[in-house]
Amino acid sequence: MSNPSSPELVSGVASLRDRLAAVRGQRGRIGLVPTMGALHEGHLSLVRASKSECDCTVVSIFVNPSQFGPGEDFQRYPRTLQADLDALAGCGAELVFAPAGEDVYRPGHATWVEPGGVAEPLEGRCRPGHFRGVATVVLKLLNMVAPDVAYFGQKDYQQATVVRHMVEDLDVPTQIRVCPIVREPDGLAMSSRNAYLSPAARARSLVLWQSLQLAATLVDEGERGAETIVRQMRQRILTAEDARIDYVALVDPESLEPVEEIVGRTLAVLAVKIENTRLIDNCLLQPPGPRAPVA
Ligand code: AMP
Repeated sequence: MSNPSSPELVSGVASLRDRLAAVRGQRGRIGLVPTMGALHEGHLSLVRASKSECDCTVVSIFVNPSQFGPGEDFQRYPRTLQADLDALAGCGAELVFAPAGEDVYRPGHATWVEPGGVAEPLEGRCRPGHFRGVATVVLKLLNMVAPDVAYFGQKDYQQATVVRHMVEDLDVPTQIRVCPIVREPDGLAMSSRNAYLSPAARARSLVLWQSLQLAATLVDEGERGAETIVRQMRQRILTAEDARIDYVALVDPESLEPVEEIVGRTLAVLAVKIENTRLIDNCLLQPPGPRAPVA
């Protein structure tokens, strides 16, 4: 595999397949990190995870039009290919696959993956059609690259869950790894969309992380009522003057169904607009186990 300090940029599916056939010929393990570019440390953590397990890491960079709804930020989404290539050079990714839109959705494209179940609540409700676009492009990328392992971030918890279900339901022979959320030093989850925030809004956006920490503290202190915890989280978020809450929920981490009482591992998950930038974040809550019986 080529010089680890300079990823090879490939834009056509045929040349990608040729390049990967050579890797497979040497019995190399292939890892895929799907991204929309504007790479930050969160993305790079997935690349490092792939590097640690695979012989060849492919990073795809594609701003997928079909996962953006009308009026969303598809047009203005940051596109920073040269900076992305520079960032990847430091991590040793072997291949960057950056296809053109018309190479992914060719004229006449009319086949879609329609995920149900875990795709329906939360983001599914707020962004109709979003997971149809995500599932379709992820399945296409999995078919183009045919990786042994594909890496996703817990930052997009529901997305990773939808992908895990799709791979299971459609018998895709790729393992899915979900890697931890990488945060800024002050707690804000890294996101390409953070670049939209003015400095003042960036400061206000800390209410997301604060509300998740508040939920964890309440659970640690013995609170078990989801309604009470969600109410307090919402109050904390609304201390940011322009915060608009899409949802704040405590859900089962597998089914993503709301829970009423915290009895085991529970996902606190939220989507909030600050200064018109829609931010999402989440955190797994774990109530302390029962005390060991006194002998
Ligand atoms: P995106 O480019 O936003 O589509 O993200 C590409 C992948 O990077 C997805 O699997 C995301 O969940 C993951 N990702 C984005 N932000 C973070 C983060 N802060 N920490 C870990 N993974 C992330």
